[in-house]
Amino acid sequence: MKKLIAITFSLFTVISTASAQNWCGSMEHRDELNSERPEVAKEIERKFNAFNKLQQENEASGVKNSDHYVIPVVFHIIHKGGNENISFAQIEDQMRSLNEDFAYLNEDSELTPDAFKAYAGDAKIEFRLAQLDPEGNCTQGVTRTFSQLTSTANNNVKELIQWDPYKYFNVWVVKEIDKETSYGTILGYAQFPDELWSNAATDGVILRDDYCGSIGTASSQVGRTLTHEAGHWLNLRHIWGDATCGTDHVNDTPAAEEPNFGICLNDYPYRISVIGGDTINSGCTPDATTQIISQLNGEMFMNYMDYSDDNCMNMFSLLQGDRMRSAIDEFRSVLVSETNLIATGTNDDYISSVCIPTPEFTADYIYGCPGDAYSFFNETYNVDYSLDSVVTYEWTFEGGTPATSTEENPEDIIFLEAGFFPITLSSTNSAGERSLLKEAYITVTDDEANMSFPYIQNFESTEFPTFPTESWNWLVSSQIDPTWNRTTEAASPTITGIDGGVNNAALRIRSASFTSEGDRHTLITPTIDLSNATAPINAYYDIAYAQKNMGTNDNLRVYISDDCGRTWVSKKNYDTESLITNDGSTIFLPFVPTEDEWERFQVSLSTLAGEKNVQIKFELIGENGNWLYMDNFIVSNSNEVSLSETIFGDLAIYPNPSQGDVTIEFELYKKATVKIALSNVYGATLATEVLNLDATKNSVQLNSLYPNLKAGVYFIQLEQNGTTMTKKVVITD
Ligand SMILES: [Zn+2]
Repeated sequence: MKKLIAITFSLFTVISTASAQNWCGSMEHRDELNSERPEVAKEIERKFNAFNKLQQENEASGVKNSDHYVIPVVFHIIHKGGNENISFAQIEDQMRSLNEDFAYLNEDSELTPDAFKAYAGDAKIEFRLAQLDPEGNCTQGVTRTFSQLTSTANNNVKELIQWDPYKYFNVWVVKEIDKETSYGTILGYAQFPDELWSNAATDGVILRDDYCGSIGTASSQVGRTLTHEAGHWLNLRHIWGDATCGTDHVNDTPAAEEPNFGICLNDYPYRISVIGGDTINSGCTPDATTQIISQLNGEMFMNYMDYSDDNCMNMFSLLQGDRMRSAIDEFRSVLVSETNLIATGTNDDYISSVCIPTPEFTADYIYGCPGDAYSFFNETYNVDYSLDSVVTYEWTFEGGTPATSTEENPEDIIFLEAGFFPITLSSTNSAGERSLLKEAYITVTDDEANMSFPYIQNFESTEFPTFPTESWNWLVSSQIDPTWNRTTEAASPTITGIDGGVNNAALRIRSASFTSEGDRHTLITPTIDLSNATAPINAYYDIAYAQKNMGTNDNLRVYISDDCGRTWVSKKNYDTESLITNDGSTIFLPFVPTEDEWERFQVSLSTLAGEKNVQIKFELIGENGNWLYMDNFIVSNSNEVSLSETIFGDLAIYPNPSQGDVTIEFELYKKATVKIALSNVYGATLATEVLNLDATKNSVQLNSLYPNLKAGVYFIQLEQNGTTMTKKVVITD
């Protein structure tokens, strides 16, 4: 019963002090690695036990390593242009507090209770920001990578960038780790050193930006999340041994019952062991064979390896320091070798020099209509302003007005034409110049040549997503990674007639093949003209989807825009569950839907009635997913529309007006017999021609239909199966 009360109490304190806790995911990370590869897990366990045994033997025989170690560090800032792109000053502040904590030079070291002081001390491990990168280039020990993954980081961001973990201590700083444990939201986690041999690609520490250091975005913190995680990274366990009164394999830390949340210096002594006596504040019974510190002063909740609040912690024990240095000897000896310190510019004799700046930039918008203005923001880094404060910038905006700028943050750059435009920034200081080119960074969509309503895309064209007429194109994110792709593996039979008997193709995407879990892959329609459409207007799309396994986490989001993608309004958010169209069973092999496994989904566009320039964006964010298929995308008043009603794509007549040398151009969605008619303003038909045409872009010369037309206003009409499409043509003298 007492136990129950204690648990209830600690849960209460978790909630009340949630914002100030070290929510560490290191043990969960280890469990995850181990569950993925049981045979490797066995070897890791063997290494862990062998290390503990050796450590105990060395301690018993008085073998001691008193070396002072230097560890080269690199911070990888993963950001999406927000304040999670923390300043160099914030990183330096984190390095300061990390080193103070490890050297027991922290200001609050004086708060260590007297009974524990003799056991507290310098761990003799110093962290230094790398000054040379893996290629030997000058660096400040910081990289910056733009990625949406910063919000759902986990191990995913480690695939974006990592420096050789045998040579650098990698620290990733992200906005959110996106992992929950029974204790709450994860703020950071480390990988233990006995896993380096088997899991080098994930070695290091991941940390939230608002827990990195004590200034900038972390101004409400003390910066001890990294102290704790660096402890794990050097083989320290939690002080309660991750079990009730478990062992941390360190003999000068008292046994601890469980993690201490919200316990602070006022609570000292806490959980005093009184043999056969006090039962109100009683603690664990120590392991008398190994523990050299008395249990009578209670638990060492001010140890960095507990879960107390940052400002209640102030020490590593001396034997924790020994254990960490032994872990360096055993698992990370290359890292601290003189050769490596020289290679990373962290040796004592290294003379700092001015680095060439690394250009980086963002913009307020990356999509827009012709004529829209953009602001660009310089985010050049690798600049130590204390060494050299003068950096000059040179921007090139191909297709923009103005086309160049030397301002740090140029504003009002206007793009008048539709297209994809590259942006270049060159940053120069006394050490040299470096340029960054972002291809097709700005997308300007033609807002005049819109697709007519109703609109159909059945993905049958082998050219998809590009067409002979640029304004018909769909925009598909990154063509390099596996993304939305046309397939003939399956097609939706759901909508009668839409494919006009041709029913071969669909689009599909599979999150299990994404480069990084949680990647976003977008699919954007061309602009669709709803200026003459009246509500109800819907976008319909047929979906087929099955879950790959229980770890599948796919999310399909649908957005709309009426300003060429400059702003997007969220309309739908389908989670994995709501996407499933099969019987719910998981399918490990590639999913190919049967005809019964398609469903029609829809989203209302009625609020956009009267808008001339409407786009729909699909975004799949996912991990471990099987194929998601999409087919028969339709924007119309009802889902009864069929291809026979809208066989024609956009009808273009150019030049118009002209002196008679006119091209009539249109796309057919299927092979068909089409009648072209020319009439005058009084409705009299002047010429007709019947043509058998293919499902592609077709063009007819007006001169061949009716040579030497007099100046005046005429109408061109296309007709197929009773469906017509008419456009005015003006002939001048
Ligand atoms: Zn931890």
